[in-house]
Amino acid sequence: MTEPGPAAIRLAPGLWQAMVEHALRERPLEACGLLAGRGDRAYAFYPTRNAARSPTRYDIDPQDLLRVTLELEARGEEVWGIFHSHPATPAYPSRTDVRLAFYPSAFYLICSTADPTRPVLRAFRIVDGAVSEVAVHAEDGGAGGRGSPPASPRPSAGGSP
Ligand SMILES: [Zn+2]
Repeated sequence: MTEPGPAAIRLAPGLWQAMVEHALRERPLEACGLLAGRGDRAYAFYPTRNAARSPTRYDIDPQDLLRVTLELEARGEEVWGIFHSHPATPAYPSRTDVRLAFYPSAFYLICSTADPTRPVLRAFRIVDGAVSEVAVHAEDGGAGGRGSPPASPRPSAGGSP
């Protein structure tokens, strides 16, 4: 079986941060959302409600799913990526995630907030039950491909002028 799609994806500036913040905000529930993109690059993130309101699974709110799908269809696009968070477990597809991966052409992005001070974002393709990881590069350096948080600006206090 050939590996489908690119080995790495790129996130437009601000997307890494937007996904991580959504995940942290929804904690301890799983957060979810959708991504718009072209080719190997995501250009927009749509946070959605988790209809399951569960700490261990997600169910993208049907109204949100419809709204985003229609918006993308109007531009001749499809859902590019599906995002959700793992509040207490690693950023890797669970058995349920694999079983319910109905979009073989989509990228599945998972953010672990098990350590909320060090959120980890990883991306995967899930095709016919097979999981393959895709590297994530944030164009603003957000993830640095390693899922580490963006470097925060150093406080200007202290130091000589
Ligand atoms: Zn999951």
